[in-house]
Amino acid sequence: MTDLSALETKTRNWLKPYTNAPLGHFINGQRVDGDQNRIVDVTTPVDNSALGQMQAGTEADIDKAANAAWDAFQNWRAMPGSQRRAILHAVADGIEARADEIAHVESFDTGQPIRFMKKAAIRGAANFRFFADKAPSAMDGQALPTDTHLNVTTRMPLGPIGVITPWNTPFMLSTWKIAPALAAGCTVVQKPAEFSPFSAMILAEIAHEAGLPAGVLNVVNGLGEGAGKALTEHRHIKAVAFVGESHTGTLIQRQTAATLKRIHLELGGKNPCIVFDDADMDRALDAAVFMQFSLNGERCTSSTRLLVQDTIYDDFTARVKDRIANLTVGHPLDPETEIGPLIHPTHHEKVLSYFDIAKEDGAKTVIGGKRHGDTGCYVEPTLFTGASNDMRIAQEEIFGPVLTAIPFKDEADALRIGNDVDYGLTAYVWTHSMERGLRMSKGLEAGMVWVNSENNRHLPAPFGGMKASGIGRDGGDYSFDFYMETKNMCYAYGTHTVPQLGKG
Ligand code: NAD
Repeated sequence: MTDLSALETKTRNWLKPYTNAPLGHFINGQRVDGDQNRIVDVTTPVDNSALGQMQAGTEADIDKAANAAWDAFQNWRAMPGSQRRAILHAVADGIEARADEIAHVESFDTGQPIRFMKKAAIRGAANFRFFADKAPSAMDGQALPTDTHLNVTTRMPLGPIGVITPWNTPFMLSTWKIAPALAAGCTVVQKPAEFSPFSAMILAEIAHEAGLPAGVLNVVNGLGEGAGKALTEHRHIKAVAFVGESHTGTLIQRQTAATLKRIHLELGGKNPCIVFDDADMDRALDAAVFMQFSLNGERCTSSTRLLVQDTIYDDFTARVKDRIANLTVGHPLDPETEIGPLIHPTHHEKVLSYFDIAKEDGAKTVIGGKRHGDTGCYVEPTLFTGASNDMRIAQEEIFGPVLTAIPFKDEADALRIGNDVDYGLTAYVWTHSMERGLRMSKGLEAGMVWVNSENNRHLPAPFGGMKASGIGRDGGDYSFDFYMETKNMCYAYGTHTVPQLGKG
């Protein structure tokens, strides 16, 4: 039996350097305090007890951080890519050395089960290694000759980048942004989510111990409407890489307009998992359950709408129900736990509210549909059947361990229902027919489609959504397209006729 109180004590000890006083900011290579009068409590969703406190950064804190990032940019951009590569590999080494600590801190802070957070911390290191190796070639371009001229393209780093991140897998998600930005030669000011601020400070410390020059990576803690907004409006910040809700994405778009910033928005999803009756049922079942119930369902790529062909609907949803009944709900630090508590009481209330909404809309709750236990932010993993796609449980992002199953007749019906939402992040298709898989992936309005697979990430491949799920792509060279400016340089061979004016 796992000794949970020993695990909690170990985690609180790891947290001590960040909780013995209200957590401040990391600016120009060191931890600094901001306005001590603006303090926000940070809790653990295990029992909503205090973990620590955080200083809510102000416009003045953002100004300091953005100025530091601007000053540091001049040297960082000029550093040879091979040197940047070495430093970023050292950051990855540092993450690996502290991966257990990062995983525990993040699990206790967010409620995400430790089994997933351990992998997420290691993936953070992998992201740094991947982009470290790309740093020496980040400026590469093309030679585009004509008969008379040689066009040569290159890419230049944009400048200081504002990185704004959410709470669902904060550490790993932030490395998707920070690693390519640094590899490209940009500097960064990060504003982490207010519900989960600690792991960003750990990353800043690791990076500087690994040799990252002061000012290259800065962190300002705070609230979205305070520090977040100020970051999006600062004149030294040249682009904003944002991960969060679609509504917040619209605010970012508005806030960045006055300073004409480039924006990358990774937003919400309401992704379909479409199971045809010719699919490999066992694999489809594994994937459907994994994609909705891993990471507490607080996952932008979760397969939250289960579209099942009517010929197998009853049988398949009965098997999903059996698997849900077997899920282990519990303390996030327990290695056995499959579903932990949701991030925060506000989000907990939001997810619980959908249990009534489902009833009002006429869906059937076949399992779950209530809170789990009396303390903390736990919910029972839930399956709604008999749902139609116009219900709110099929249209709105619930962001919890809640699955809505909808029957469909045929391929055309599946495609229509699959696309009939505002979002367009991912889609999953299960079929034995290659032609149908091809037709479906062509027709589905999603930035990423997996056929006969759960979300399987390949770092060079583009990651991102269409419609209300976002603007822009992460991954491989796509990341550099965002963090860098493409420049064309044109050289004449001296053989062409230069047009003449004013010669009479
Ligand atoms: P959120 O939009 O509430 O907050 C995200 C971040 O934005 C936080 O740091 C917050 O402080 C900041 N923020 C809020 N208002 C702001 C403003 N006006 N200006 C600047 N910053 C502001 O999102 P959340 O609840 O933290 O995260 C959950 C959401 O993130 C879900 O919708 C989920 O789908 C989405 N998400 C998307 C992806 C993806 O890759 N598409 C990945 C993970 C999470």
